Amino acid sequence: MALIVQKYGGSSVADATSIKRVAKRIAEAKRGGNDVVVVVSAMGDTTDNLIDLANEVTPMPPSREMDILLTAGERISMALLAMAIESLGVEAKSFTGQQAGVITDTRYGKARIIDVAPGRITSTLAEGAVAIVAGFQGVTQHTNDVTTLGRGGSDTTAVALAAALHADICEIYTDVDGVFTADPRIVPSARRIPRISYDEMMEMAASGAKVLGLRCVEYARRYGVPVHVRSSFSGREGTLVTDEIEGAGTVEEPIISGVAHDRSEAKITVVGVPDVPGKAAKIFEVVAGAEVNIDMIVQNVSVAATGLTDISFTLPATDGQHCIAALTAAQAEIGYDSLQYDDTIGKLSLVGAGMRSHPGVSAKLFAALSAAGINLEMISTSEIRISVVTRADHLDDAVRAAHSAFELDSTEDEAVVYGGTGR
Ligand code: ADP
Ligand code: ASP
Ligand code: MG
Repeated sequence: MALIVQKYGGSSVADATSIKRVAKRIAEAKRGGNDVVVVVSAMGDTTDNLIDLANEVTPMPPSREMDILLTAGERISMALLAMAIESLGVEAKSFTGQQAGVITDTRYGKARIIDVAPGRITSTLAEGAVAIVAGFQGVTQHTNDVTTLGRGGSDTTAVALAAALHADICEIYTDVDGVFTADPRIVPSARRIPRISYDEMMEMAASGAKVLGLRCVEYARRYGVPVHVRSSFSGREGTLVTDEIEGAGTVEEPIISGVAHDRSEAKITVVGVPDVPGKAAKIFEVVAGAEVNIDMIVQNVSVAATGLTDISFTLPATDGQHCIAALTAAQAEIGYDSLQYDDTIGKLSLVGAGMRSHPGVSAKLFAALSAAGINLEMISTSEIRISVVTRADHLDDAVRAAHSAFELDSTEDEAVVYGGTGR
């Protein structure tokens, strides 16, 4: 008998029929003799629809109320799923994040889990019932305010519960058959990756491969939780995210694991910054003070005659206006001329642990992109990743060009997209 945590994403519970289908899967796992904890996301595009609704009511919704609003989505699906499981003759009880003991810090919209106290979940399992937990939500430690964990946060809830309960496996059920060498919605010939290391998966997730959230992978690595990403629409084996990768560090290790893309970033350029020590520090202090996480940074060489330089950086587009406001307030202190904002950028990242020991990966990537007529606006690298910024409308072509250049295309029709709107 095993303790299994299963997480079902929004597209797996998009309507009543899907909820009943998923309930059957859960009942089977339970009848197979396992203890089963289920984490569930909001139905279909519910979260996006709730965000749109809030923005129709007011352009700047207060973050505390926004979080209460968004947690409603997961509450709907958790109760419906528990009902569907009960109707199959298996006992099930649903719990909000708060009831399940998910304690977070106070950062609304991007709260971090600081503790999990799953007493009610453990006792539900002991009673022989399936425990259903609303994903993506928690409660602050001292004030009992409801928080959300950031988009895609149900993955993190699942891994955090799996760690707290010492589960044997955390299964992430979604609308594709696992982690592929690129998003199957853009590259139909993408190949399923049977096993991937936490490190590579972290780079993929950080680079926009939203099949798993970054926080979830960080958490899984820290606590050594094995994660199996698979489809709720098929019985196929998916992708195992783990530490033990066969062939790692050997000649058999693939150089490139995959190509990730991200359309959710924007670029801010601070124009006319005095080229003297301390200015970059000041700019990024202001940005950090606004709680904005930046990604890539480029500083242009100053034109000697003017002694001024331009500094560009990328950030989540959702933080764009907030960051512009913080920089504008500090204009006199920093002493720059103006700000430019561009949210029509796309980012492509090539990820692979094997690139540590293989020269020429950047050259091959840049050659492939140039052959496809794609201009590179920014470049950054880590030990196992190369990222470039392009125009947003060139991004899909760039992903396909990079994918073929590194011979990642599959000859079998593996990359089925079973559901979801890709939103
Ligand atoms: P869920 O609602 O189940 O959480 P998500 O939409 O968050 O699902 O994540 C699944 C989607 O991630 C897939 O439908 C696919 O379009 C996208 N995706 C992006 N990159 C990849 C990748 N490398 N492998 C698999 N799916 C990917
Ligand atoms: N419903 C939330 C979202 O859409 C959380 C999740 O699905 O993981 O981001
Ligand atoms: Mg997701």
